[in-house]
Amino acid sequence: MYDLIVLGGGPAGLSAALYAGRARLSVLLLEKGVIGGQIAQSSEIENYPGSPPHESGESLIARMSAQAERFGAERIIDTITAVSAEGETKVLTGVKGSYACRALIVATGNAPLQIGCPGERELIGKGVSYCATCDAAFFEGLEVYVVGGGDSAVEEALYLSKFARKVTIIHRRDALRATKCIRDRAFAEPKLSFIWDSVIEELRGDGLLESMTLRNIKTGVTTTVAADEADGTFGLFVFIGLHPASELFAGKLDMENGYILTDEDMATNIPGVFAAGDVRKKTLRQVVTAAADGAVAAVRAEKYLEERGV
Ligand code: NAP
Repeated sequence: MYDLIVLGGGPAGLSAALYAGRARLSVLLLEKGVIGGQIAQSSEIENYPGSPPHESGESLIARMSAQAERFGAERIIDTITAVSAEGETKVLTGVKGSYACRALIVATGNAPLQIGCPGERELIGKGVSYCATCDAAFFEGLEVYVVGGGDSAVEEALYLSKFARKVTIIHRRDALRATKCIRDRAFAEPKLSFIWDSVIEELRGDGLLESMTLRNIKTGVTTTVAADEADGTFGLFVFIGLHPASELFAGKLDMENGYILTDEDMATNIPGVFAAGDVRKKTLRQVVTAAADGAVAAVRAEKYLEERGV
């Protein structure tokens, strides 16, 4: 029986584990995969206060993770498949075992959205990717396409331009959503070009991604983009947003569009259950706000436990 379980090892979860560990609570951090969440896949973090220039998500997370560990947070890698959260004792059941606690912080973050077109699923890892940091090196000297017009798409397109021969952003509108400083860098990058007002209808390839059909949503005209003959393939990186990883709590925690509703102290509708970071309904999803949520949730959880004599 732990005082507190933190579900999710991104910035919100690591910050919660750090604060709770420092408050001498017995803390278990549960993570299904690699510690770090979405941000660990980010090529560069420019806006986390105090980060050195050109810091990668991976390096920021490595420091956060070591710090949480220093304050005693235990860590188990397991995929949780069921949660019983309503009682005084909360039980999380995973593939490897069951874990009980008196308070729970949900910091499960969010996961990348897929385009949903024919061929996408079959070609994941064979040309289609959702992580530039992970896969950019496979496309050294090749052509690469990026889907999306937000901060992620444009930042990762800039990162990919260090590897690829040419990078083309395919966006469904004729204006980028990304913030001005990121847009300005993109428009100044000679390797970057744009296909506006277009969506991908189909991806094709026998083993590797070889061609795709685009549709201009204003004119309805479809075009085929095929790999350069000498290359035989090209890369397609998809950054069209994220969806909250809150399925485990559907019908239990109050949500809006899948995002968990909390008060300003991160408390949910179930006593003893808190939510922090990107999985929460909020206006700004950044590392700094995730880390702040984690700290608030841990301090609030500590108070909750104190009130129960723990
Ligand atoms: P996002 O801001 O939601 O942008 C998603 C982009 O994909 C939009 O341009 C959207 O088009 C497009 N899109 C959505 N669904 C699509 C579909 N089915 N087909 C084609 N295009 C589609 O997502 P994000 O860029 O991943 O960013 C998520 C959050 O992280 C944001 O709050 C962002 O500010 C933050 N972030 C911050 C930084 C930074 O500060 N350095 C870096 C990365 C991410 P429309 O524009 O037409 O809607």
